[in-house]
Amino acid sequence: MTPLPLSLPLRVLGDPILRKETTPVTAITNDLRQLIDAMFTTMYAARGIGLAAPQVGRTERLTIVDVKDEPLVLINPEVLASSGMERDEEGCLSIPDIYGDVDRPSTIHFRAMDRDGNVFEREADGLLARCVQHEIDHLHGKLFIDYLSVLKRRAALDQWAKEKEKYPGNVRVLTAEEIAKHHHRDEEL
Ligand SMILES: [Zn+2]
Repeated sequence: MTPLPLSLPLRVLGDPILRKETTPVTAITNDLRQLIDAMFTTMYAARGIGLAAPQVGRTERLTIVDVKDEPLVLINPEVLASSGMERDEEGCLSIPDIYGDVDRPSTIHFRAMDRDGNVFEREADGLLARCVQHEIDHLHGKLFIDYLSVLKRRAALDQWAKEKEKYPGNVRVLTAEEIAKHHHRDEEL
């Protein structure tokens, strides 16, 4: 297999892969580890706090998050229980410059496999809970704009109709300048 480039092009809204169901991972291979490394490079370059495989054109049920300098690899993740409800603004690396308020459970209990194939369970709240839910949605073809009211979604899509012209072929290639900023994160998922 040829090595993956360090930073992967991001797929943006309009690319059908963002609406597809992913395939559960059945084995931790070197290819998968290489994909994970390339996804971290890409996420940090894009100043994101979460990135799911479909956002880089892949179908593995795999996502990564790093909310507070704690990189997490989540393979085949699932939410087992959730409680509370919280509204906060979300953005998405695949829908640049579009933001919207999304209601989500404020606390979750989830299960996933790490990059060594170990299954773990964990509680999360606050931004980590929001981020994990946003990324798991990506693994099932769901995007944060799906949660917006009809009017707000229409406004977001109207705005996106102008923005998307910057991304021919529904691909967002990070510029050298963006990559140079590497570790400066904001809060896109
Ligand atoms: Zn996203």
